[in-house]
Amino acid sequence: MRVVSGPQGPRVVLDGKPVLLLCSNDYLGLADHPQVREAAADAAMRWGAGAGASRLVSGTMTVHRKLEERLAAFKGTEAAVLFGAGYLANVGVLGAVAQVAGRDPVVFSDALNHASIIDGCRLARAEVAVYDHCDVEHLGWLLERHRGRGAVVVTDSVFSMDGDVAPLTELVELAQRFGARTVVDDAHGTGCVGPGGRGAVAEAGLEGQVDVVVGTLGKALGSYGAFAACSSAMRDLLVNTARSLIFSTAPPPPAVAAACAALELVEAQPDRPAQLQANAGALRDALAREGFEVAGSTTQVVPLVVGDAEQAMAFCEAAIEGGVFAQAIRPPTVPEGTSRLRLAVMASHTKDDLREAARTLGRAALRAGFRPGAGVPVAAAQPAGPRSWDRRQAA
Ligand code: PMP
Repeated sequence: MRVVSGPQGPRVVLDGKPVLLLCSNDYLGLADHPQVREAAADAAMRWGAGAGASRLVSGTMTVHRKLEERLAAFKGTEAAVLFGAGYLANVGVLGAVAQVAGRDPVVFSDALNHASIIDGCRLARAEVAVYDHCDVEHLGWLLERHRGRGAVVVTDSVFSMDGDVAPLTELVELAQRFGARTVVDDAHGTGCVGPGGRGAVAEAGLEGQVDVVVGTLGKALGSYGAFAACSSAMRDLLVNTARSLIFSTAPPPPAVAAACAALELVEAQPDRPAQLQANAGALRDALAREGFEVAGSTTQVVPLVVGDAEQAMAFCEAAIEGGVFAQAIRPPTVPEGTSRLRLAVMASHTKDDLREAARTLGRAALRAGFRPGAGVPVAAAQPAGPRSWDRRQAA
């Protein structure tokens, strides 16, 4: 692990060397905002450093309640419930929802869902059916095959490794047609996309129509922790059955208060999410001018797919050498043959920062023996030609 001195920001000191930071999920630059830091410091003095117990024991404090109310209003749901982290939220929510989804439940999960969803599926004590990435037709086929059983459809909203957005309107419509429950992980959408940064579910006009929307406090909200936004009845179910909530200490008060202050800033300054997406567009344009293919991404997460894992590592090293810190991602985090550099834009980057980064990345790619544009398009990870699952093909 590389060591960063000082807080997250557009530029950091990495292992003693100044670099432009292009792999932080502190998308809105709020982790080091003075109001957010002050809220954390004040909360530490008022409520202490830790919550001391699980939410169900003595760990629910007024500061937790306040943030839950604010998050429910922000997400347009009746209720919200905090979890220790996004990982814990997905692990707890899927098991709880699957158990009320109906007889002999099946969880239908996108092939590129985040690892925490995959682990949540494993712990859900349900059969798991994986549908091809964003493939509504494949999902429909699988739902039909398992008709009559309990069903939960789960997807990332903004995919963490590709920066593309799930077809939420079609997915929810299909799920409703089959009487399936829906869980959307809006970790990379919350604070980043949609009206006023309210997320991808709000962007799709689906507020209140998804059974559980998961969000994290550790990305755009600059803190640590997570939440599930849902109906009051679902909140009660989660509080009583989500094991990662019941058997884990509540999020620390300073983290909760910091997220609350960050949320207030997002609501008061809706231009921050807009600035983030403008910056993402500027980076994608600058990368395209260097010859990179970035067509799959429409958000602040921008992948540069290299293909080969060793070459992706060499690309990462050359980029750091040139002063740009981006994250190399290899299997099993991404499918075999789609190793990449994952770039994460921040609202606090300047356009000059991003133009300079694109030029540095162009030079770094060549130094790593990789010609920009010669990588494997993300879609190449998907099966081509007739699809083996299609019963019309099988017939
Ligand atoms: N969901 C997604 C889509 C994520 O990318 C992540 C973290 N990278 C998580 C959940 C887990 O969130 P946390 O870091 O709060 O555990």
